[in-house]
Amino acid sequence: MNEKYKSKVVKVGTYFLGGNNPVRVQSMCDIDTRNVKATVKQILTLEKAGCEIIRVAVPDMVAAKAIGKIKRKIHIPLVADIHFDYKLALECVAQGIDKIRINPGNIGSREKVEAVVKACKAKKIPIRIGVNVGSIEKDLQAKYGPTPKAAVESALRHVKILEDLKFYDILISIKFSDVPQMVEGYRLLAQKVNYPLHLGITHAGTAYMGTVKNAIGIGILLNEGIGSTIRVSLTADPSEEVKAGFAILNAVGVRKFGPELISCPTCGRTEIDLIGLAQKVEKVLAGIKKPIKVAVMGCVVNGPGEAREADIGIAGGKKAGAIFVKGKVIKSVSEKNLLPEFLKELKKIS
Ligand code: SF4
Repeated sequence: MNEKYKSKVVKVGTYFLGGNNPVRVQSMCDIDTRNVKATVKQILTLEKAGCEIIRVAVPDMVAAKAIGKIKRKIHIPLVADIHFDYKLALECVAQGIDKIRINPGNIGSREKVEAVVKACKAKKIPIRIGVNVGSIEKDLQAKYGPTPKAAVESALRHVKILEDLKFYDILISIKFSDVPQMVEGYRLLAQKVNYPLHLGITHAGTAYMGTVKNAIGIGILLNEGIGSTIRVSLTADPSEEVKAGFAILNAVGVRKFGPELISCPTCGRTEIDLIGLAQKVEKVLAGIKKPIKVAVMGCVVNGPGEAREADIGIAGGKKAGAIFVKGKVIKSVSEKNLLPEFLKELKKIS
């Protein structure tokens, strides 16, 4: 990671975001917040999947009043997503919310903004400014079009409103559905502010394409040291967002959790059911926490060498295979015994 972007640290519930703190994975509930039971159930499921911060939509006062009840039953910081209505923000603060996502420029009169800022200050609740390309102010749209420059200027306007009121517990996101625009936007923003940035591609699509887009956009920025939290927004179950979020952090190398599976694409040298084997190993690894590297390779000629950095691995042969540790073959067995023997060795090191 480079040293270009060093953000200040902002506390969100139990987490410190920004600075040298770990990049946190967020998601958002996709059910009606007014249904407390169902919302809590979904959040608890997401917690199990590893979700670290969860956001809920707060469209009305019933939803705002549900925040306290939800909060008491969950264990991760809760964020309220509010559009325009300052009364909803005040109610969420009263209910014990951990962070509010609201754009101060859209709240209305100065008195209303001041009321929200005062309430947040008193309870040390941070505010995330979230600019989406579709919601940029008309004058900025006219001046720059729906561009990264317009999104950054819009975000800076919101920031200024808060800073003028001496409020600095700020996080910012500027989201695009287009990957190059998203990357350019955050890079520009990182030159102008030092608040923690929340990364994501908006309206990224379904699980497959959405994960690809998010991985590229978020991955490029994290590799440049930009980004303190991420949300992989997908048209899919939120658990998929969390899974993808951790896979991105793992792949970029900014955080390491659990085992990493290295497997070859197979080729004409493969003489065992390698795809089936890799899928079975992947399932087993899902239950392991230790950050080990595990390789599943198609042939014994190239496999162990190609996966030299793996802690443990399997390499296929002619209806048989070898088990190797740190690049050295330690035993050879029939295809039938490959998985059970491998699991025995895996148990020893995990
Ligand atoms: S490890 Fe062997 S089987 Fe797998 S792609 Fe490489 S050469 Fe082919």
